Amino acid sequence: MESKDAIAILKSLKDKGIRFTPQRQAILEYLLDTNSHPTAEEIYRQVKERFPGVSLGTIYNTLNMLKENNFLLELDCGEMSTRFDGNAENHYHVVCRNCGKVVDFHTDLLQLDALATEHTGFAIETHRLVFYGVCGPCREIH
Ligand SMILES: [Zn+2]
Ligand SMILES: [Zn+2]
Repeated sequence: MESKDAIAILKSLKDKGIRFTPQRQAILEYLLDTNSHPTAEEIYRQVKERFPGVSLGTIYNTLNMLKENNFLLELDCGEMSTRFDGNAENHYHVVCRNCGKVVDFHTDLLQLDALATEHTGFAIETHRLVFYGVCGPCREIH
């Protein structure tokens, strides 16, 4: 699946009447550019380097707006704070319980939906699956 670029997302939001300031655009570009699954605070620190006047409120507003329009995934990483992913396509995540690193894991587990339907009779719309463990560098230390 091809990842969406900022221009296509901005155009689609503009068609819905959503206004984008240069600050909001910088947030979107940062999210599309990184695969580190940053927290809101990390996004804030990055965008602040280009736009010193940006507020944490603007960060949260923009994240909520992108999430509502399905251009952003919000990841609940257990005890660790909420992370954000500019890749909204269905994929899985592996979380290091030592350092908190989040890594993408692309695989086809859609047959789980069919299995869930078979066992429960539900029409499945989506599922969430997070793997927890210890990453390579952390395994070397311990
Ligand atoms: Zn680790
Ligand atoms: Zn991801």
